Amino acid sequence: MSDMAQGIIGQLGEWLIAPLGNVLDAASRMYWLFWLSAIALALAVVLIAQWREKKCSVTRAFASLFSPHHWWRRSTLIDLGFMLGNSVLRLAVVIPLLGSHLLATLWVARTLQSNLGNAPELAVPGVWVAALYTFCFFVAEDFSRFFLHRTMHKVPALWRLHKVHHSARRLTPLTLFRVHPLEMCLYYGRGLVVFGTVSGSFVYLFGSQLSGWDVLGVDALGFAFNFFGANLRHSHVWLSFGPLERWFISPAGHQLHHSRLPAHRDKNFGTCLSLWDRLAGSHLPAGARRPRLAFGLSGVRSS
Ligand SMILES: [Zn+2]
Ligand SMILES: [Zn+2]
Repeated sequence: MSDMAQGIIGQLGEWLIAPLGNVLDAASRMYWLFWLSAIALALAVVLIAQWREKKCSVTRAFASLFSPHHWWRRSTLIDLGFMLGNSVLRLAVVIPLLGSHLLATLWVARTLQSNLGNAPELAVPGVWVAALYTFCFFVAEDFSRFFLHRTMHKVPALWRLHKVHHSARRLTPLTLFRVHPLEMCLYYGRGLVVFGTVSGSFVYLFGSQLSGWDVLGVDALGFAFNFFGANLRHSHVWLSFGPLERWFISPAGHQLHHSRLPAHRDKNFGTCLSLWDRLAGSHLPAGARRPRLAFGLSGVRSS
């Protein structure tokens, strides 16, 4: 085999195993700690349900969570296929073409500097800068996700792409990756614009105060969201946030979004905050008990 062919195969292999690196990346929903917290929350949900029926058993709870009947399905293999295919596409094409988040940040900061001159001297303590940055990034990220997700449902051409995600008949945390390649590109572009704009503006305004922290590492609110069961959004575990449903989209709320029932159609587009759905009239709080749900596409038509 020629050196070139070996090089191509080696590079392809690196791109294919890249998603494994997410297990060590605290910015990814696949981070090991978020898997552990999701398992702990899921166990608690299943054990509480069993306790109500006076049939509490940790062994049975584990068996229901990791049942091969749920996980070992064609649907999961399709999710894995999308995960690998989109990983190669993102690393080989999308990032080289659109640029990285760090490049977008530097571009925005330099553009502001060259058009507006030096930033005004703002005597704000570093800890407040970090808190303000975290808040602004979280709100901009959450709203932009809601806006793009809703648009994917409302514009017929975009719904044709997004229905790939809704085609999953079994929801597992890997369903997160079941996304049409063009939708993945749109979401990458969205993330780039939001991250570049917020981070670049902060680097421009508070560059001298940023030395103590790294803008790429600060997303405390996103971390908290992932820690409180984000991996259960695509799962067979019904985790509702009770009275907090009014403020946050729970994993159960996202399962309603995937439901084929007409009453659940075009509800809960949000990722974390319920606010955007409440303003748009599409919020549907999840109750304490799981209704009979079916997922997948048959009979589903987005408006
Ligand atoms: Zn959707
Ligand atoms: Zn989903």
